[in-house]
Amino acid sequence: MPCAQIEFFVVFLENRNNAYTMATIRHDWSLDEIRAIYSSPVLELMYRAATVHREHHATGEVQVCTLLSIKTGGCPEDCSYCPQAARYNTGVKVHKLLDAKVVLDAAQKAKNAGATRFCMGAAWREVRENRDFDKVLDMVRGVSDLGMEVCCTLGMLNDDQAVKLKEAGLYAYNHNLDTSEEFYDDIITTRTYKDRLKTISSINNANISVCSGGIIGMGETDEDRIGMLYTLATLPIHPESVPVNALVPVEGTPLAEQPRVSVWEMVRMIATARILIPNAMVRLSAGREMMTTEDQALCFMAGANSIFSGDTLLTTPNPDFKKDMDMFKLLGLSPRQAYKNENANNCGHDHDHQHNHEEQLLSVQA
Ligand code: SF4
Repeated sequence: MPCAQIEFFVVFLENRNNAYTMATIRHDWSLDEIRAIYSSPVLELMYRAATVHREHHATGEVQVCTLLSIKTGGCPEDCSYCPQAARYNTGVKVHKLLDAKVVLDAAQKAKNAGATRFCMGAAWREVRENRDFDKVLDMVRGVSDLGMEVCCTLGMLNDDQAVKLKEAGLYAYNHNLDTSEEFYDDIITTRTYKDRLKTISSINNANISVCSGGIIGMGETDEDRIGMLYTLATLPIHPESVPVNALVPVEGTPLAEQPRVSVWEMVRMIATARILIPNAMVRLSAGREMMTTEDQALCFMAGANSIFSGDTLLTTPNPDFKKDMDMFKLLGLSPRQAYKNENANNCGHDHDHQHNHEEQLLSVQA
């Protein structure tokens, strides 16, 4: 190849790499920038997200989490998508808080099957300081002692409660934004977006990793999806995990008749989240049961690196471990180790995520 052509080719590659390199973690994204990324041609978007993914994470590793409903149904909130809201007639079997032994047995089983993160969900509006909360603290201690990353999703909480969970060994707390601030009132009326952000702030203050994302397919517009990503990407501390859920319409809920989202909508959300929040575990969450292996492979290509595995996701169906491990084998993927068991270089880069979280927290508090 003549020299001029080689030079042109090198400059082309450098420009392309510069355009797609997101080495700096940014919290100052504008809505216009996010809109432009989200709206770009889907194959370009995937390529860019895959590039960012490879810069920030070990390729081929996917975090495997298990979610257990430790208290099901009877919730006083009115989340339009949720079969556990007491006001909707969905046939969900209500049960009170499980015994710690049942929970720890389930955690051990999940660990044996390859899960490294165990998430416990309770259908509560908020955490209350009572015997049930004490029992949850015991569960957190027990799961943490198994060497798993322990996560809870218990509704709203305050600073003191977050500190107690942290002291018990809680690694992460899930509190989804669900959608944009503008669309929030159409989905939930029993709490506000500000309530959501306040709980996220309490989690951060206690130095617990935040897991926060949303749901698509609830009747929101692209602008709402962009708005939710904007809120997440401009938080002073980025979430450590960003779950991207496709609505699983459940009979009896107000959203029962919503059409299913396409895989390309999931790909677009996942890829944009990956580009905006490069260090996050972007989780392909609810809705996976409806996806083919090919669909899921597209999502992994677009930057997803975390899944929930186990045959139920709170109350809706989910692929089981065996099916997921067969898919991993086919796609050349392997389960990611629990963070607390890895050294800083285990993922092939000179960072670890908890350390990042602490650094971000310090820089915000300074
Ligand atoms: S999503 Fe959570 S808070 Fe909302 S109704 Fe369901 S259990 Fe209650």
